[in-house]
Amino acid sequence: MQNSQTGGPLIYALTCGYITLPTSYFISGEEGKTRVPACVFLIDHPRGLALFDTGFSDRFIGMEKGLGKIVEMPDEHSIAQRLRALDVDPDKIDWIINSHLHLDHAGGNHMLPNATVIVQSEEWDFGFSGEDGAYAKEDFDTGQPVKRIIGEHDLFGDGSVILFPTPGHTPGHQSARVRTATGEAVLAGDCCNFRRSLDEMRLPEAVYNADHYRGSLQKLSALRRAGAKIFYGHDPDFWETVPQAKELDLRAVQ
Ligand SMILES: [Zn+2]
Repeated sequence: MQNSQTGGPLIYALTCGYITLPTSYFISGEEGKTRVPACVFLIDHPRGLALFDTGFSDRFIGMEKGLGKIVEMPDEHSIAQRLRALDVDPDKIDWIINSHLHLDHAGGNHMLPNATVIVQSEEWDFGFSGEDGAYAKEDFDTGQPVKRIIGEHDLFGDGSVILFPTPGHTPGHQSARVRTATGEAVLAGDCCNFRRSLDEMRLPEAVYNADHYRGSLQKLSALRRAGAKIFYGHDPDFWETVPQAKELDLRAVQ
């Protein structure tokens, strides 16, 4: 992999594990269970390499008890292995953008020793509060520098990668708008789990703040109407259509 482009950052989609949970966890009122991917994105910008989320930790590899019953983590799914398969040294990642700090989003942080973690300030504090069992301190209390932000942030200073708050799932959830040569992508994270969540404006069963969640869906809806391609946080059917580990052409994304 090599960034030689002149038309903005490149994006690569990477699956870093799966989890099986009641479908209502993702969209309320539905029965049964759904196996969903942990979706990670590599953003290759001339001024640096950034990851949007880091998937599950490699501590789940071979785990059969406890969370190992619902988390699947093949060895090649760890973010370090995914990067090496693209010829990217995990030591060379400059930024980790965490949408939030749940264990399916920050689990790979520890494999990226030279990155600065960039997270909404409120999310960082909430992660340490112990109020929510989906946070594992060992995943995000990993020693790298942390840049705490409040509100919108232009990562490379050229408007091509904009982080913006999308609270509701957690207090300090954020998403990213990435302007590429082939269009604008919105890396949603868990403010919008499925395409149907946005089509039907449907929330998951449990949210930290339902009003904020609705507001975040409305932000995404406006961006989609304006032509951006939304990358839904945990949509297995949508994710099937996204080419893995290759430069994304947003014109081909549904
Ligand atoms: Zn998630």
